[in-house]
Order: sequence, then C-alpha cells, then structure tokens
Amino acid sequence: MTGRGGGPRSRRAFRRAERRLVGGVDSPVRSFRAVGGTPVFFARGRGAQLWDLDGRRYVDLVGSWGAAILGHAPSPVVRAVREAAGRGLSFGAPTELEHELAERIAAAVPGVQRIRFVTSGTEAVMSAVRAARGFTSRAKVVKFAGGYHGHSDGLLARAGSGVATAAIADSAGVPASIVADTIVLPYNDLDAATERFARDGASIAAVVVEPVAANMNLVPPLPGFLSGIGRLAADAGALVIADEVITGFRLRRGAVAPEYGLRPDLLTFGKVIGGGMPVGAYGGRRDVMETVAPLGPVYQAGTLAGSPVAMAAGAATLDALTPAVYRRLDRTSAEIARSWTERAGAAGVDDLQLARVGSLLGVAFAEGSPRTYEAALAVDRRRYARFFHAMLAEGVYLPPSPLETTFVSAAIGPQETETLDRAAARSFRSLGGSR
Ligand SMILES: *Cc1c(COP(=O)(O)O)cnc(C)c1O
Repeated sequence: MTGRGGGPRSRRAFRRAERRLVGGVDSPVRSFRAVGGTPVFFARGRGAQLWDLDGRRYVDLVGSWGAAILGHAPSPVVRAVREAAGRGLSFGAPTELEHELAERIAAAVPGVQRIRFVTSGTEAVMSAVRAARGFTSRAKVVKFAGGYHGHSDGLLARAGSGVATAAIADSAGVPASIVADTIVLPYNDLDAATERFARDGASIAAVVVEPVAANMNLVPPLPGFLSGIGRLAADAGALVIADEVITGFRLRRGAVAPEYGLRPDLLTFGKVIGGGMPVGAYGGRRDVMETVAPLGPVYQAGTLAGSPVAMAAGAATLDALTPAVYRRLDRTSAEIARSWTERAGAAGVDDLQLARVGSLLGVAFAEGSPRTYEAALAVDRRRYARFFHAMLAEGVYLPPSPLETTFVSAAIGPQETETLDRAAARSFRSLGGSR
C-alpha cells in the first residue's frame, strides 16, 4: 500500500476528523483503507471536476457513487433546490413535490403502480423486504453473494466459501437469528438457485437482486440468469425485488431489470433519483405496496421522507436526463473504455479487465473478467491500489476500493476524456506488466 493520497490540508483535516468522527469518515469506503494513504477532502465540485482543500483539481469518476450523474452543481438542479429550500426545508406533511417525482418515476417504470419515498437506499431495500414478507407471510429472503443492498441487518450477509448452506453475517452486531432468514446464493449461478428453490421455495418471501452487480466491481448478469430467477420466484410464489439503487435511471430512463427479461414485483431506487440529495424509494405492484401503512399492516415511516428539497432535486435531475444525455453518457463511457484498454495494452499491462455496462465501468486487475463474487474478491487489490494512486496523482479521482464500480457522469466532455486518456497512459506505464 502506498502512503499517498490527500495533500497537506487534506491530511490535516483528516487528522482532526479522526479525533471526533469514527475513523474520520461517515462511510467506511471513504477512508482509503482499501487503497492506503489518507483520504482527499473536497472543497467543491463543478461539472466533472472536483477541487480538494489543497486546491488540486480532479476529474471525478465517483460522482458521489453515482448520484451525481449530471456532474456537480448542475444549474437546473441547484436552482430547484434553492427554490424549494426558500419555501421551507421540511414540513413533516405532504407537499405536491412528492407527486411530481413519483409521476416521473412511474412514467418511466411501468411496474411502479405505487411508490413510497424514504431517505436512503438502505431504507428502501429494507422496507421493500418488509413489505414482501408482510404480503407473502413468509420469512426467508434470498440475496446473492456480493450483492449490496444497504446495511440493514438481514441483508449484511454473504455466502461462506463454496456452497451457500448457512448465511454468515458480514458484520459484528448482526445476530445469527436474523441472518438465519437470509439465504445467500452465488450470483450468476442459476443451477444453485434452482436447487435451493426446489428445497426452500415455499418459505421464500422474496429474492433481492442487483440486476447488474455493481458492488463487487462490475459483474453483468449472464444471459438467462435474471429471467431464470424471475421464473423460479414466480413458480414458488416468492416476490422479486430488483435493487436498482445504482442502475435505475443511470443505465436508461427507468429500470434495467426488464431489459434482461426480469419483471420485478418491487423495485428500489436511490442515488440518481435524488440528484445528490438523500433519497431512496421503493415501489411496484399495487397489491403488494398496499400492505404498507397507512393502508396495510406493514409499518414504515420517516420524519424527513419525501423532503421537499430532495424531491425537487430529484425531479429536476430526471428532467435533465434526456435521451441525448443517455446517448452521450454511453458514448463518453465507450470512449474511456477504449482509451484505457489501448493505453494498458501499449504499456504491457496484461491483466486489466475492463467491464462496461453503459456509464458503469469495472476496473479490475485479474486473469479473467470477474463473473462471481469469489472472482471479484480474488482480483489483484495491490495493483488496483497502485493504479488508483497513480491516477490520483494525475488528477483523476477513482473509487478508493478495488471492489467498487467507476461512474461516468454526463458532465465529462472531450477535455476531460483527454485528461483521462493522458492520465491512464502514464498510470499504466508506471504499473507495467503483472509480473
Ligand atoms: C448504494 C446502494 C444501496 C444503499 O443505498 P444508501 O443510500 O447508501 O443507503 C443499496 N443498494 C445498492 C445496489 C446500492 O448500490
């Protein structure tokens, strides 16, 4: 691990933060533990660029983990936020803005007959699981190893090595009794799912799945996997929850699951639909959603849920996401992938695995593209850390973890693409071949 990272002011800010904030951060991945060095502290962002406390400028390829799909401080969104904030930050009572964002989501996602806004993706998935359990009167939930669905107790579990028989909690503080109702299966393995459903199908309330796994580097679904999962669930009377917190409104306007032949009963959203404000949402089949209070017996509530400022930011973001913006995101991302692949080849880097799904890029150093969680865990993390720090020194802010996905924003233009090309050329040269 290198000892680099933030400049003198960032290092000072981090030392001060560490004395009060746990680990100096509010979310673990920000701590740079996975790549070494100290985190960069940011002062501001504009478009595709970020400025740190030391005045250094970066092309941002994290984009607040995907939320900043338009880049930083896009004027229509900032304007909408200012207007909403000027009328009051929160009333704990309904406003018309919730309906505005709900209509935009429902218009783009045919399966969303009813929706509920919450304040994070974690809450969205946790609540969707509760609704599914309430609706089916069943307890078990299936998730896939390497799928991240927020930090609620029951979903913080992955498979032990090899066959997933017992779910093991990933986190201290999660009682075994809670993950006992979580079944963890290997992603992209329809046979394993078929076998498990044959055994336990009748007690499964729901299957939660990221249609494109974007929290174990980037692992696209194999052909037939998602549609197969949909069939298994339907035959067992279990619901499917598509966790589109990353993919929703990023890969296309709406949800991506249907493009892979999966018709989810419920969907969860976050990140993009809040345009940088804290938002999550779950929605889907009317009969399932109507089990949620005040209409049904499933309780779920939130003091700041449907915050006017967040709703306004979300609606303005979705309005800005025109078909032309999605085409541009795709073009830019393809260009970056092409340039990096070429630059790696020229530098003799023989182990770069570059995956791309729309504006999501998976950067891994391994012998082959990761297709499973085990493979994702086995990528060369030290080489990623070296690449990360080389790119950082060249003014590119990548995800500070080899297991995260890289996010391209619509604010990245020809000038930034050129910066990225030059930075990659130098970084790959400094990295060299894998042995
Ligand atoms: C980020 C993420 C979540 C959790 O959202 P938070 O807003 O961080 O709570 C859930 N599911 C997926 C797929 C995510 O990427």
